[in-house]
Amino acid sequence: MSILIKGGRVITADEDKIADVFIEDEAVAEIGESLDRAADRTIDANGKYVLPGGVDPHTHLDMPFGGTVTIDDVESGQTSAAFGGTTCHVDFIIQPQGSSFADAVEQWRGKANGKQVIDMGYHMAVTDLKGGGTLEELATLPDQGITSYKLFMAYKGALMVDDETLFRVMQVAAETGALVMVHAENGDAIHVLVEQALAEGKTEPKYHALTRPPETEGEATNRAIQLAHVAGCKLYVVHVSCRESVEPIARARQQGWDVWGETCTQYFFVDYTFLERPNFEGGKFVYTPPPRAKENQDVLWDAVRDDVLSVVSTDHCAFLWDGQKTLGKDDFSKIPNGAPGLENRLHMLHEFGVRSGRISLQRLVELWATNPAKYFGLYPRKGTIAVGSDADLVVFDPEKPHTISAATHHSKSDYNLYEGTEVTGSPEVVLLRGHVLVENDELVAQPGVGEFVKRARFGEELAPKQTAAAQA
Ligand SMILES: [Zn+2]
Repeated sequence: MSILIKGGRVITADEDKIADVFIEDEAVAEIGESLDRAADRTIDANGKYVLPGGVDPHTHLDMPFGGTVTIDDVESGQTSAAFGGTTCHVDFIIQPQGSSFADAVEQWRGKANGKQVIDMGYHMAVTDLKGGGTLEELATLPDQGITSYKLFMAYKGALMVDDETLFRVMQVAAETGALVMVHAENGDAIHVLVEQALAEGKTEPKYHALTRPPETEGEATNRAIQLAHVAGCKLYVVHVSCRESVEPIARARQQGWDVWGETCTQYFFVDYTFLERPNFEGGKFVYTPPPRAKENQDVLWDAVRDDVLSVVSTDHCAFLWDGQKTLGKDDFSKIPNGAPGLENRLHMLHEFGVRSGRISLQRLVELWATNPAKYFGLYPRKGTIAVGSDADLVVFDPEKPHTISAATHHSKSDYNLYEGTEVTGSPEVVLLRGHVLVENDELVAQPGVGEFVKRARFGEELAPKQTAAAQA
C-alpha cells in the first residue's frame, strides 16, 4: 500500500516547507517537491498542514483510582486521541501494591491487547518496594522498552512514596539510563491541610485547590530536582502548573542540570475560579495539581516559549461527572482526581498558541510531538516527518471550524473541560503507520491496528521499525 500526500505545508521542529510526502507500507519513503511517484492513493493537501502525529507522554487509561476506574479504556481513550491527531502515547502502569513489576506489566498489557487504535508505550509507576517489586527487577525494565520510572510524591496512603524510595529509584535510574518522572507535590503537608479543612466542614470542590497550595508543588519540585542531581539521574517533572515549580526548573536548566518539565493543556485555560462553579459543577475541574490562579497561565506560556518547559501533555484521566465525580459531592477529598483531554490538545494549542501569536507552528510541533518523542525514546521513528520514520501523519486543515463539546467528543466522559470553545483548525486525515485512522470525522481503522512500542532510553534513537525488525 502506498500513499502520496501532495502539496501540503510540511511542518516539523526543524523545517517548514511545501512538499509531497510519499508513504510506502508503514513508513515515509520520500519527501520532496512535486514527486513523480505512482501511489495507490493520493491525498490532496493543498492549503493544509502536514504534521507529525502527536505524541502524548502522560495519560491514564483503564486505571483504578479513588475507589473507581477511569471511564476511558484503551479503545475509547485511544479513539479520542486519534480524532485529535495523537497517534502515539505513553501510559502509566501503576504497580499494584505488593505486586512484582512483571505482574504489573502483564496486567496492564492485558488491558490493551486487541483494543489498540494508536501506538503506545508504558512508564512504570513505582508505588511499593517493600512488597513485590525490587530494585533489581526495576533495573530490568529498560531492556523491555519501559525506559521511564514514575514516582508520586503525593496521594499519601495510596500512591505516594517516601523520599528513601524516591532516592533509591533515582539511583537505579542513574545506572540503567531510565528517565525519572515525578508527580511533585508535598503529600504530607497536603494530607494535614485536607484533614483540617474537612474537620472545619469545608467540603466543596474549591477546597481541592485550597488544600494544595502552589508552594507544596514548588517545594516538592525543588526537592526532586536536588535529589536527582545527587543521584545523578535525569529528571522529568510532570504536569507543572504554577510559578512556584517553574522557577526551580528554570534555575536547574540554567545550571545545565538534566531536568525537563511538562505542563498540560488544561493549565493554560482552566483557572481556580472554575472550581467555584455552583451545583457541584466545580467537581469537573478537580484534577491534580489543581487549577491555579489565572496569572499562572502567562507564566506557563512564557515557560513553553523559553523552553523552561518542553512538552505539553494532557494527563488524560477521564471520569464521568454524573456517577463518578459525584462520589465526592459531600467531600471534595472523595472526588476522583482527573479530567479528559486527549482529543483536544492540538485544537487548543493551535487556536490559543499559534493563532493567538503565543508560539510558532514549529514550536507547537516540538511541544506536542517531537520533544515527547525524543525524551521518551520514540524519536525519530515517531515525532517527526523524515524518510524511514513511521508514517504517523496529520493532514490538518487550518481553516476548518470545530466546536469542542462532550456531545461530539470521543471520550466516554460526559463533559469536556473546554465545552463550547470554538476553534479554527482541525485534523482532516490522521494516519498511523500509513493506515488511515480518521477521515471525514469517522474512525476508519479497526481497534487492533495500534501496537506496543519498545522504547529506547533517553537520548538514544529508536531505529525505524523495518530496520529494528530486520535486526531482531
Ligand atoms: Zn497523571
